Amino acid sequence: MVNIQKIKKYPDTILRAKCSPAEIVGDKIRSILSDMTFPMHAYNGIGLAAPQIGMDKQIVVIDIGEGPISLVNPEIVDKDGRSAIEEGCLSLPEVLVKVKRAGGIKVKALDETGREITIDAKGLLSTVIQHEVDHLNGILIIDYANFIKKEFLKRSLLKHRERRPM
Ligand SMILES: [Zn+2]
Repeated sequence: MVNIQKIKKYPDTILRAKCSPAEIVGDKIRSILSDMTFPMHAYNGIGLAAPQIGMDKQIVVIDIGEGPISLVNPEIVDKDGRSAIEEGCLSLPEVLVKVKRAGGIKVKALDETGREITIDAKGLLSTVIQHEVDHLNGILIIDYANFIKKEFLKRSLLKHRERRPM
């Protein structure tokens, strides 16, 4: 039986944690990666970061429909161009925020075998990687909303939480 991890929701403080780098990529990290990949698919997400399952480690999984990608200790080393698309987040149900980001990025990380990989990402993949790396730094899409929208979102998110306590 696969254990479906509960997704941490705003305003859980773990979502604001600055994640520390994962040590050697071994069975423990691989088990965290599968604990993350399963709920990402189960909840129909295209990316998930470790704080969203309650762990302050620099671990991310992504699947934009081309198969899962594991990124351990990801570091964005180059950015170019611009993009601004409406993003959702499994930790902020029913919220969409248009986020201005780089259009393309180069990211370095370790994969699930501990090998160093470099990905040149554009389009949706680039956006998802930037979204997930934000999570590792405690940054959420709500932080990109303007003041008025932010206040509105905070209130509706807290109401949402009262309606469905966890
Ligand atoms: Zn998210």
